[in-house]
Amino acid sequence: MNAIRLSRNERAGDRRIDVSFEFFPPKDEAMEKILWESIERLAPLSPNFVSVTYGAGGSTRERTHATVKRILGETPLTPAAHLTCVAATKAEIDEVVRNYHDAGVRHIVALRGDSMEGAGAKYAPHPGGYETSAKLVEGIKRVSSDFEVSVSAYPEKHPDSPNVDADIDMLKAKVDAGAGRAITQFFFENDLYFRYLDRVRARGIDIPIVPGILPVQNFKAATNFAARAGASVPAWLADRFHGLDNDPATRKLIAAAVAAEQVLDLVDRGVTNFHFYTMNRADLVFAVCHLLGLRPAVDQAA
Ligand code: FAD
Repeated sequence: MNAIRLSRNERAGDRRIDVSFEFFPPKDEAMEKILWESIERLAPLSPNFVSVTYGAGGSTRERTHATVKRILGETPLTPAAHLTCVAATKAEIDEVVRNYHDAGVRHIVALRGDSMEGAGAKYAPHPGGYETSAKLVEGIKRVSSDFEVSVSAYPEKHPDSPNVDADIDMLKAKVDAGAGRAITQFFFENDLYFRYLDRVRARGIDIPIVPGILPVQNFKAATNFAARAGASVPAWLADRFHGLDNDPATRKLIAAAVAAEQVLDLVDRGVTNFHFYTMNRADLVFAVCHLLGLRPAVDQAA
């Protein structure tokens, strides 16, 4: 009763809500400006960490490094660098990992990545490269055991997996190799997450499985993205955005309401840790975090 009027603090009780934010490296100056405005707006919310993606096929290698190093040098935030096995030998990847370590980075999000032809094309490991994400986790830990390593998890299974059990086998291999946290692919039906969590726990995997939340900035783009990622888009969600193609202001309100409803339901069901796919835009994420009870550090100090 009155659930929607309760604040996060009342919902979560004494439990602390932790968030992390994911960004992608900017392609040009205009996008760089947007990214840094977003980082500046979200930074006062004191996220656990902020992660920076690694473009398909390692295409953003330099830009990922530059963004991670700038976060480290110019903000109080803790960066996590995404890294994939694609298009590089083990020695090349180890060198990247050592460089991060030398620069002071201590958190890597380790992924297999997709074929150079893009998501959906058949994946083949690079000759002399890490064959799987689990081997990459092992390699990172070999370079330095003080790296925190996060990995992916797929509540609706990865498109390459024959079934959820095969996916959980891979997650188990990544955990056995040293991964300390999994971040899920985004999903819109919370029951999918909890069903997956039950199966993961039943396999004896006890690391945090942090839900990845995608605030829907653009429904069409989110649908395309979901099709490639193997995430389902429920009819009720399509219905909520129906007829709003030329109404960006209402779309934004609906997107905030959808994301708020999702995270508040997760909090009610015991979740206290969230990873936001920001798409480099702060507004929706900031609003949802506000609903979760997060306040800029300066307000809390006042
Ligand atoms: P894994 O967990 O290694 O594998 C996923 C599943 O595919 C496994 O369960 C396994 O059953 C199956 N599988 C794996 N390899 C094979 C194989 N050779 N044959 C048959 N089945 C196989 N991509 C990027 O390019 N850059 C990023 O920065 C990035 N960040 C991401 C962050 C998160 C939180 C998530 C969820 C995904 C991210 N991705 C990123 C996407 C990811 O690279 C792709 O989904 C990729 O296809 C799988 O990589 P993975 O490490 O998630 O897969």
